Amino acid sequence: NKLKNIAILGSTGSIGTQALDVIRANPQLFKAEVLTAQSNADLLIAQALEFGPEVVVIVDEHKYQQVKEALSNTPIKVKSGEEALTEVVVLPQLDMVLTAVVGFCGLRPTISAIKARKTIALANKETLVVAGDIVTQLAKENGVDILPVDSEHSAIFQCLVGEKLCEIEKIYLTASGGPFRGKNIDFLKTVTHHQALKHPNWSMGAKITIDSASLMNKGLEVIEAKWLFNLNVDQIDVIVHPQSIVHSLVQFNDGSIKAQMGLPDMKLPIQYALTYPSRVNTDFKRFNFLDYPSLTFEPADMNTFRNLAYAFDALQKGGNMACIINAANEVVVAEFLKERIGFLQMSDIIESCMLNVDFVEKPILEDYFQTDRETRAYALDLITNI
Ligand code: NDP
Ligand code: MG
Repeated sequence: NKLKNIAILGSTGSIGTQALDVIRANPQLFKAEVLTAQSNADLLIAQALEFGPEVVVIVDEHKYQQVKEALSNTPIKVKSGEEALTEVVVLPQLDMVLTAVVGFCGLRPTISAIKARKTIALANKETLVVAGDIVTQLAKENGVDILPVDSEHSAIFQCLVGEKLCEIEKIYLTASGGPFRGKNIDFLKTVTHHQALKHPNWSMGAKITIDSASLMNKGLEVIEAKWLFNLNVDQIDVIVHPQSIVHSLVQFNDGSIKAQMGLPDMKLPIQYALTYPSRVNTDFKRFNFLDYPSLTFEPADMNTFRNLAYAFDALQKGGNMACIINAANEVVVAEFLKERIGFLQMSDIIESCMLNVDFVEKPILEDYFQTDRETRAYALDLITNI
């Protein structure tokens, strides 16, 4: 039985380190052949020494020497720079690329991996948000599977095993509601990034944690779901479920609903993407019904949390609108984390970008790069002039 060779883009992050936990627990199934980090050289070096990949990438060129020296007594190759991500995903021995980088920077390497016919385990939802049409079309042309890692999409994917996509009536994406569930605008005016970084159920990277607090994460997931499962916007619903046990649901055309459930632990959806179409027996903690005597559901408050409404608007509008939202959101989250803008200003700036950045109805790939640059510049300009 051949080992599955995996490239982990973003191995030092929250998803990346949990993917390595999965590989560590299943050494008979997987080999980490490529590991990459932006700038966390210390962790990348430790991972390289433990897993012995063919090559590592440290994107930040200032850290190249440090990594190179630390691995000088090993056969591990070291690369640096952003383009290196696009190069390493085409290595012939790779079976799968797990995209666990955060943000727009995932787009080019994902496209490169698809063209090289590598199966994609997709955590980097921003790639599908920005260019879902082009990426899914390219995957189809190359016969490449895009397997979801995001827990909600993994849930839907698991519910769809043995089903036909054309028999889906609608899907329900569940949302925890984040740390500010039930709060009003007055409360949100004054919240800090420390409060926003305290997610009730999940421990994740900073960007997605802020996105969860603002419901932008659910908005991005609505768009991600559209492309993964080829749905119309009116087939996608969001329901707030504070316990994060039901990870999402599919309703079929006979009215039957399937749900996937489990404890909130990303290792499960990560592992399912890696082992699909099989499952493996692991000692992950089991769900106990008596610990959760009530599972509750409530509507999402899209008036207070406008980002979710904007994501639905972007799907209605099509074109480059989701790319505009994504770029604006990446800028505002970074600025919010630096305490340069407030929580509600994030939505104001996103809205302003949607209204003012050039709309392109039928974008080609280069248009998405142009829109991304233009939106970032526009958003930063707004922030400077506040
Ligand atoms: P983290 O911030 O924890 O990790 C991001 C990883 O990407 C790190 O390895 C980081 O390197 C690297 N990275 C950051 N910026 C760049 C860049 N410009 N170029 C190349 N590499 C970069 O993020 P998460 O693991 O939380 O999230 C990763 C993706 O998975 C996101 O798209 C997120 O939406 C998605 N996701 C995450 C979930 C979670 O539970 N965390 C759940 C569902 C989806 P370094 O460490 O050196 O900075
Ligand atoms: Mg999710």
